[in-house]
Amino acid sequence: MRLSRAFLPTLKEVPAEAQIASHRLMLRAGLIRQTSAGIYAWLPAGLRVLRNIERIVREEQNAVGAQEVLMPTIQSAEPWRQSGRYDAYGPEMLRLRDRQDRELLYGPTNEEVITDIFGQSAKSYRELPQMLYQVQWKFRDELRPRFGVMRGREFLMKDAYSFDATYEAAVASYRRMMLAYLRTFQRLGVRAVPMVADTGPIGGNLSHEFLILAPTGESGVFYDAALEEQDWLAQDVDIEDDRSLETFFNQVTQSYAATDEMHDAQAWEKVPEAQRREGRGIEVGHIFYFGTKYTESMGVSVTGADGAPFHPQMGSYGIGVSRLVGAIIEASHDDAGVIWPDSVAPFRAAILNLKPGDADTDAICEQLHAADPEAFLYDDRSERAGVKFNDADLMGHPWQLIVGPRAAKEGKVEVKRRATNERFELSVAEALAKVQ
Ligand code: ATP
Ligand code: MG
Ligand code: MG
Ligand code: MG
Repeated sequence: MRLSRAFLPTLKEVPAEAQIASHRLMLRAGLIRQTSAGIYAWLPAGLRVLRNIERIVREEQNAVGAQEVLMPTIQSAEPWRQSGRYDAYGPEMLRLRDRQDRELLYGPTNEEVITDIFGQSAKSYRELPQMLYQVQWKFRDELRPRFGVMRGREFLMKDAYSFDATYEAAVASYRRMMLAYLRTFQRLGVRAVPMVADTGPIGGNLSHEFLILAPTGESGVFYDAALEEQDWLAQDVDIEDDRSLETFFNQVTQSYAATDEMHDAQAWEKVPEAQRREGRGIEVGHIFYFGTKYTESMGVSVTGADGAPFHPQMGSYGIGVSRLVGAIIEASHDDAGVIWPDSVAPFRAAILNLKPGDADTDAICEQLHAADPEAFLYDDRSERAGVKFNDADLMGHPWQLIVGPRAAKEGKVEVKRRATNERFELSVAEALAKVQ
């Protein structure tokens, strides 16, 4: 992609409405534009990041046996009346009426729709377990939309739903999802700590939120410092083996970690004082077991091995895909701009032509660009070098391939790693190998 032709509208001014770094940087780097309060358009570079996150989320959902579906954004009020949530959900739900005066809503979540779909087809315990997921837009009329895409009103969520025959099987599904989440966040280049979350009237301990530690997070968090070092994915896990899943789960949840809502002063006392950490975190995922709450209220049952009908056990599992774009930046930036983890970066490298029109620099830049025109953003503009350096740092490409006339004469490229500021003088072939 040539920058001179790309729609990458960077801003020099710091937008007044943006209170935190990630929101400012997303506007300045030309990733998003707000169209209404809490509603955003994704511009080319922002959409690339969003798609990269989605891809990793999908791969890890598929890896634990979840199957992708796509449900509509507009839902009927009917199943919500059955579950009892239509009135209970309150003003966060955007309610609509069509021309026949039927009650509709823009889905804030999908337990009712998926339970309805599953219930219409499932007849027997033999059809269990099932794990279905989608990546779809949600709408919640948040009281205070803020921090850009971190608390939007319209936002992209991965939501998965599990259906199991027994409590034990539901627990195994829950643990598989825990594994999928930890793998997902690791691949996204962020550390998201699983923390005990509220289970409400369901009870038990099968609800965890995943929080990226950051001072601008909206949740207060209490955790054991051991978690800062813990490698949750150190052991191999056999997802078909309940014992292996249990060992994994116990290991992941052994250290104290809770959000302020669930903080337990007694358990906290048991954490050695020097190990106690208090801070703030951004909720980027949430997994929840809720048993037969929806299958029971919505009258969904299947026939068991003994011929008697029973209500399948369910869980639901969300990841804030669009929130993650902001959260990753919150966790990975400096004064100059974004520092994208390699896996989600919109472009792997920027090629900075410091002297367009110079035969040597032009030739080397063209050669680099031709190697991967999709992944490399070629800054071919007739701008000053300083402007190019600033824009590349702002946009946060993991690598910069800097081509100036003197080095170009010798066929050399300066390669800069954005995260560490390391620099290497390399030949074109070596430079291309370096940024692979
Ligand atoms: P929060 O506590 O931040 O309001 P939540 O607990 O209401 O989030 P869930 O119902 O658990 O959200 O939804 C699953 C995930 O969707 C959350 O973990 C979060 O990452 C994301 N999410 C929720 N609300 C928003 C929002 N308004 N904007 C962007 N992402 C959101
Ligand atoms: Mg909420
Ligand atoms: Mg929450
Ligand atoms: Mg939540």
